[in-house]
Amino acid sequence: MPHEDPRRAGGFTARGRRGVVSVQHAVDALQRGSPTSISAVEMCYADAMELREVAKDVHACLTPDRGLGWSNSGLINRGGGMVIDTFWDLPHTRALLDCYARVTPDRPRRLVNTHHNGDHCWGNQLLADAEIIGHRLCAEAFGKDVQPAVMEALRTAPASDDAGLASFAAALADWDFSGIELTPPTTLIDERLDLDLDGIAAHLIYVGPAHTQGDVIVHLPEQKVVFTGDILFRLCTPIGWEGTFARWIAALDQIVALAPDVVVPGHGPLCGVEGPREMKAYLEYVRAEARTFFDADLPALEAAGRIDLGPYADWTEPERIVFSVERAYREFRGEPHDAPIDLMRILAGMAELREAREA
Ligand SMILES: [Zn+2]
Repeated sequence: MPHEDPRRAGGFTARGRRGVVSVQHAVDALQRGSPTSISAVEMCYADAMELREVAKDVHACLTPDRGLGWSNSGLINRGGGMVIDTFWDLPHTRALLDCYARVTPDRPRRLVNTHHNGDHCWGNQLLADAEIIGHRLCAEAFGKDVQPAVMEALRTAPASDDAGLASFAAALADWDFSGIELTPPTTLIDERLDLDLDGIAAHLIYVGPAHTQGDVIVHLPEQKVVFTGDILFRLCTPIGWEGTFARWIAALDQIVALAPDVVVPGHGPLCGVEGPREMKAYLEYVRAEARTFFDADLPALEAAGRIDLGPYADWTEPERIVFSVERAYREFRGEPHDAPIDLMRILAGMAELREAREA
C-alpha cells in the first residue's frame, strides 16, 4: 500500500488543484443563480474526492487538504454496508454518497461517527435510514456544540474588521451549512462495539477524551486497516478540543500497537504507522515547548509564536499550533479537559501568526 505524501507524489495534488479551480467556477455559477449550479457544485466536489480501495471491500474517500473541514470517510461494502463519517455539509455529503454509489448501488445500512465535530457528521441526515453508531458522549455533544445555523451566519456575515472572524469566514467559503438537521447517533458505544459485517470483523473502540470527548476508531484486524477519525491529522496541523494530551498520545500509541498496514486519517492522505508516530512526536514536542514558556509566565499566544516548528513547519496550517498551546496551558493550570476554549481568541491568534509568517 503506497503511503504517499500528496505534495511530493504529484498526482493527488494535481487532482486537488483542478478541483479547486472547478469548485470556484461552480460556486461562481451558483452565485449567479444558474439553474444547473447545484448539481455542478456537487459534480465538482465529487471530482475533488478520491475513492481508494484500501483492502478488499474496504474503501476510503479522501478529500484534498484545502484547509478547515476537508475530511476523509470510509465505506465497508459488506454486511449491508457501513459508512465511517459523513462530511461537513449536504452538498459534500451528497457527492460522497455518489462516490460510494459507484461501489454499490445499495444504500449503506450503518453509519459510524468517529466524533461529533461537524466535518464528520453534519451530513448524517442523508443516511437517516441507517443505524447511526457513535460514542455516548459524541451523541450528547450534538446538541451542545455550535449549531449549523450559527456557522452559516458566520460564513455569510458581511466582511468583518476582526481579523480572526474575517479569516474564519474566508476558511468557510467552500461550505454551505444551510438545510442541515443534526442527526446524532442512536446506537451508543461506551467502551467498544464489535461487529461482524458478513465476514469482516469491525471493532469500534473508544479512545477519548483525546481530540474530543467521544473519539472512536474503527479497526479491521484481518484487513489491517484503522480509520482513526481526528485522532490522526496527517501532514496537516492538528486541532484538538475537549481531550488531554495524555489521552491523545495514548490513542496514537494504541493505533500503532494495532499494527495496521493502512491508516486512514481524519484529515490528510493515507499512511502507515509512521503517521500516528509523527503526530505523537508533534504533540509531545509542543507540550514540552509550551511548558517552558508557561513556566516563564508567557501568555499562550506569545508562546505559540515563539515555538520553533522545526520539521512540522511543512504541515499545512502551522498556525493551528495556537490550539495545542492553549490546550497545554489549560492542563498546566490544572483545569478540566472539557473547560471551554475561547475560540474567538484562538482565531485571532491564528490570524496574527499567519500574518507574521507571511510578512
Ligand atoms: Zn475533522
